[in-house]
Formats: sequence, structure tokens, C-alpha cells
Amino acid sequence: MHNRDAVFLEDLCPKLRDRRWRKLLHEYTGKRCIYCGKNSESIDHILPRSKGGLSITENCVPACLSCNGSKTDKDAFEWYRKQRFYDPRRSMAIRAWTEGDIRLALRLLKWAQPKQSKTFENSKSRWNDDFSWKAA
Ligand SMILES: [Zn+2]
Repeated sequence: MHNRDAVFLEDLCPKLRDRRWRKLLHEYTGKRCIYCGKNSESIDHILPRSKGGLSITENCVPACLSCNGSKTDKDAFEWYRKQRFYDPRRSMAIRAWTEGDIRLALRLLKWAQPKQSKTFENSKSRWNDDFSWKAA
């Protein structure tokens, strides 16, 4: 079996795999905090590790240090609703993320990202088109 012969560096070195995975998470959101849109400097566990939250993509989101530090081990959705920068689109994105639908999560995040107005318009029209998946 050829598969057996392949030794993946990542299997030998879990730390490297962890680092790559974290990098990938940050790349998903364009290095933006999923909660507030600032630079993501850390990975936040939506369900805190202290409550049994796993270090898997569905439970881990890029977050800035400020959000990560403020949220601590509170329920992510409850905490987020009380923030000044609360955005229902982001909340939906986080929900989609936890359900493993990263694509939908990223689409919602793009929609919520206020700075790039051009991208915003594009994603808005694409968003409408995308409703076809619901009807199909
Ligand atoms: Zn933040």
C-alpha cells in the first residue's frame, strides 16, 4: 500500500500540525477576529476548554486578544450579544462555523466586514444568488 509508505511530517510532529491548522483558521477569515473584525491574534475556543470544548475547527475561531480575553470561559453567543460591536451577521457566521459550514460562515463574515465596500457589494449580490441552494 502506497498510503502506508507516505510518512507525513505532520504525523511525526503534532506541534507543526497544530501550528498549520491555526494558520489555516486565521487565513479563513483573512486574519480577522470573527467577533469584531480586528486583527486576529489568537484562537478562541467557542466552547471553552474548561467546559470540555475540543480543539477542532468547529470549536475554534480566530479572535483578537481583546475579544479572547474578554470572553474568557463565558458562553460565546451570550457574551457576543452583549458586545458593542455585536453584529447579527457575525453571530450567524459563528453559528455556521460551529456547525462545520465554514463556507457559509465566511460568506456571512464577508457580508459583515464593513471596510471593503467593493467586496461588500459583490458579496451582497452573490449572497442573493446563493439563496438558490436553499430552494434547490
Ligand atoms: Zn475581536
